[in-house]
Formats: sequence, C-alpha cells, structure tokens
Amino acid sequence: MNIILFGPPGAGKGTQAEKIINHFNIPHLSTGDIFRANIKNETPLGKKVKSILDSGKLVPDETVVELVADELSKENYNDGVVLDGFPRTVTQAEALDQFLSDNGRQIDAFITLDVPEKELINRILSRGEGRSDDTPEKIKTRLKVYREETEPVLNHYEKQGVVKRIDGVGSIEEIFERIATKLK
Ligand code: AMP
Repeated sequence: MNIILFGPPGAGKGTQAEKIINHFNIPHLSTGDIFRANIKNETPLGKKVKSILDSGKLVPDETVVELVADELSKENYNDGVVLDGFPRTVTQAEALDQFLSDNGRQIDAFITLDVPEKELINRILSRGEGRSDDTPEKIKTRLKVYREETEPVLNHYEKQGVVKRIDGVGSIEEIFERIATKLK
C-alpha cells in the first residue's frame, strides 16, 4: 500500500506515521527526517539544505524529488510506503505520480489530517522537540508556505479520488483509529 500522510505543520503526521508503520508494517519515508539526519551528520546534502530548514521555507523541488526517487528505488519500499512530508508542492506530486506509474504503482490513499490553525501553533510550541524551526516566527512562515504552496496538493489528489479526510483533533489513539478504519 502506498500512502501519503498529509496536513499542515503540527497536525501530527510524524506521530501517526509511526503508528501506521507499526500497525500495517509499511516502511516510513519522511523527507524532513532525512534532511535533519543529513544536517546532523554534516553531509553535502545537509550543508545545502540547513539554512532552508532553519528558515521554514521549502527545499527546491528538484532536490526533494531526486532524494525521494532514490529512496523509493530501494527494495525496502517495493511493497509500499508511508510518505510523510512529501509531496509538498504540485510539482512534487506530479513527479511522484510519474515515478510511481513508471514503476507500475499508484497512490492508494491520501490521508489528510484536519486541525484548526490555533491548535497547530499550540501543539508545535508545546512539543519541545528542540527543532530550530519550531519558534513562533518560523511556525508562521511554515504555515504560510503550507497554505500557499502545499495545500494545492490536496486538490491534485482530490481529482484522483484517493483523499481520506481525518479529523485530527483528539487523542493520538482516537486519531489513529479513524485512520485505521479508513485504510481497512
Ligand atoms: P517536516 O519535518 O516535514 O516538517 O519538514 C521540515 C522542513 O524540511 C520543511 O520546513 C522544509 O524546509 C523541509 N522539507 C521537508 N520535506 C520537504 C518537501 N517535500 N519539500 C520541500 N521541503 C521539504
């Protein structure tokens, strides 16, 4: 099963991705996690993207698409993937669709977590992960980028009829139950 987990920053994508991968035994691919690991290890990619992540803006499509195509080509992802934080632009979505169809695959479910903006900000500020982009000013930038560049990805997949809307307010377990019901 190829799943996209979608939603604004702070919607709980990472938390729910962990639960989905454990329950359904599908590998997780988080572009944000990959970028942060590269920054931590001071790789060439990490050096290239550090200031972009710090600013809350988006890494160029070309860089992200290349990274994801390389990852998805690994055997580990042959039977499915939970994509978390990708695609974040319509260009990325089109590249993903092309990559999947070239490999005889498709998106089976696009799960979007609905959470009111006020709650998003509170959640990010209280999660205390120590991320450099979790400051009030950076959160504002990330939400603006989400609205302007990322939200259109939802329309893109609406057209494909794969969107499953999930109320993202509630306990972690409650939200996971809603997702699991839609995926069965
Ligand atoms: P995340 O952990 O998904 O919130 O991502 C953290 C940051 O990594 C984002 O604010 C972007 O700077 C960068 N990033 C992650 N995924 C993408 C993507 N698909 N396209 C562009 N930038 C991304």
